Amino acid sequence: MRLLVVEDEERIARFLKKGLEEESYAVDVATDGPAALDWVAGAEYDVIILDVMLPGLTGFEVSRILRQRGITTPIIMLTARDDVEDRVTGLDAGADDYMPKPFAFKELLARIRAMTRRTSTATVAMTVLEFADLKLDTITHLAKRGSHEIELTPKEYGLLEYFMRHPRRPLSRTLIRESIWGYDYYGASNVVDVYVRHLRQKLEAHGEPPLIHTVRGVGYKLDDLEE
Ligand code: CA
Repeated sequence: MRLLVVEDEERIARFLKKGLEEESYAVDVATDGPAALDWVAGAEYDVIILDVMLPGLTGFEVSRILRQRGITTPIIMLTARDDVEDRVTGLDAGADDYMPKPFAFKELLARIRAMTRRTSTATVAMTVLEFADLKLDTITHLAKRGSHEIELTPKEYGLLEYFMRHPRRPLSRTLIRESIWGYDYYGASNVVDVYVRHLRQKLEAHGEPPLIHTVRGVGYKLDDLEE
């Protein structure tokens, strides 16, 4: 297993390289965006661990360029702590997962294992969210209702993940918008309603009963009770 760590902070890069090598991974380190692109052009990696704040090109730009070049290597993005906007931008840029900084090394290892062993049942149990007959894989971002697979855009995925992590709870439109689009979102005010509508259409495409219910005067909730 070969990993590329893209991190300009020397202390963190050294710590990651040493820790990952102790786990028997082969590790290359790039310390800026352009160097990361060079490394990826010259070698095949199983996972790329990509910091957001980098000299030359940001992690978002690196991810976007790699995806444009058709490189599908899983990317774990290192984002600022609890920064929803970073997380969403990262997923939009083609990252597969994110780790808020500072992170526990053990958790990073777990995510690398999840990325490299997508089919193992132990991994599936850890990474798949379930509600009623709905399953959401947090690694592949694929949803499944019963036996039907549902493809989601990054924003739809973010929205569904948010609902599934807060089941049976009324969630206000403001809360949902800030969680998925960030605090400084100034786009259309009905963005939540629009995306909920898309999501409902996909979740009920085969005549299944609704899972996302309107809560009058508040917003929405994920529930398996009839309205
Ligand atoms: Ca950095």
